[in-house]
Amino acid sequence: MSVELRVYNSLSRKKEVFEPISAPYVGMYVCGPTVYGEAHLGHARSAITFDVIFRFLSHLDYKVRYVRNITDVGHLEQDADDGEDKIAKKAKLEKLEPMEVVKRYTSYYQTYLRKLNVSEPSIEPVASGHIPEQIQITRQIIDAGFAYESKGSVYFDVMKYNESHRYGALSGRVIDDLMSGTRTLDGQDEKRSPLDFALWKNASPEHIMKWNSPWGIGFPGWHIECTAMSNKYLGTRFDIHGGGLDLLFPHHECEIAQSVAGLKSQPAKYWLHNNMITINGQKMGKSLGNFITLDQLFSGDHALLEKSYSPMTIRFFILQAHYRSTLDFSNEALVAASKGYKKLMNGLRILRKMEYAPTDAVMIDDKQEQELIKMTASCYGGLNDDFNTAITIASLFNVVKKIHTLHQNNSLFNSITKESFDAMKRTFLSLTNDVLGLLEEEPNNNEVIIEGLLEWYKLAKENKDYEQIDRIRSWFKACGMQIKDMKTSIDWAYEEA
Ligand code: ZN
Repeated sequence: MSVELRVYNSLSRKKEVFEPISAPYVGMYVCGPTVYGEAHLGHARSAITFDVIFRFLSHLDYKVRYVRNITDVGHLEQDADDGEDKIAKKAKLEKLEPMEVVKRYTSYYQTYLRKLNVSEPSIEPVASGHIPEQIQITRQIIDAGFAYESKGSVYFDVMKYNESHRYGALSGRVIDDLMSGTRTLDGQDEKRSPLDFALWKNASPEHIMKWNSPWGIGFPGWHIECTAMSNKYLGTRFDIHGGGLDLLFPHHECEIAQSVAGLKSQPAKYWLHNNMITINGQKMGKSLGNFITLDQLFSGDHALLEKSYSPMTIRFFILQAHYRSTLDFSNEALVAASKGYKKLMNGLRILRKMEYAPTDAVMIDDKQEQELIKMTASCYGGLNDDFNTAITIASLFNVVKKIHTLHQNNSLFNSITKESFDAMKRTFLSLTNDVLGLLEEEPNNNEVIIEGLLEWYKLAKENKDYEQIDRIRSWFKACGMQIKDMKTSIDWAYEEA
């Protein structure tokens, strides 16, 4: 591909030409979920966004090492250093071991992502499996003078760091503004400044998930896990760091500070953030009653849902918006997405079987030929412009129109070359299936078709049309089924042979 890929970098706040640094592979780290609840639309958007980025880079022949973590310890309720550990709280509530909570919700998350055809990352590390690495980096940050121990906990010294580096480089926040938004310390506080964040927390006796450390028994802070795991699998500096926009501050800001302080390196060259999903214009939240899990979307079992929506409809819905724009969920939007998805699949079905087949001597029409070439190129244009799947899908729809025209009138092949037709076909199939990850879903009303065939079988029997009877029986057999003739009715069963 001669066109260059440009990506929007949250760190520089502009689009930059993509030039990877961590050869021989592109290193990509994405913050995965804290596994204490069922997978929802927000999880789906982040996972699908970075799945398409992973797929597109692979399609462009980059070798990608894609690391997406699972947070199973250290993420406190307030996203800061107060409150209970989210997983420990859920474990108490459900009377489970914390690791049972982790297993249950990790498995939900992976199952639902699989339904959405999200490919698995190359490595999926968990925070609790990397305690020594987190202790090690914490030690390095202390040694470098940017963290201090206090009553068995270790805090990152934001003020000290800000003297020589800029805390707030990613989020655009300024220390003075941040300070004015915090409470003053009351003297009892373990921290030197309210902006300081925990690298290691002292565990109270009733705290369940805890480990030994040089500072006593405790558990890691939330931000340090991503620094430890990205560093372990991708090195001190890698290409892409991604996650939801809600992680930009403080999580990613803290990750940068930790890496710069402890590893002497800005961790990632490009920082990418996907925007949030709103529900009927409102932020999604349990207290608002508009929290919809993926399970509920696929089953339709939620007060806000007029019907169920298939995984591919959800995937299409997410991809028809650029990942950096907000996306509003509504039944109307989902119905429109379902229509759009089917339109694309109808094009796909025709094109898969379609071959270049002129009906007469080929007389290239330059206008037709150029139009086709331009149309094919514009499918890549969207993805190359900061992974804009919305533009790529709009271009694929133009191709669908062209496919229908060719399908209805073969003589149009006479005016275009085989090369440009094949390029269009290749582009459409690979972008739709391999990059956007949109696959054909089986029609879900097989029962209706089976009923219809049985009706037909009954009629054939009445007419003693044995040829027809045999043919229908063989169709059932081919599907591993058999027709059961009973005295007063006809039914089918699985063939037991
Ligand atoms: Zn993270």
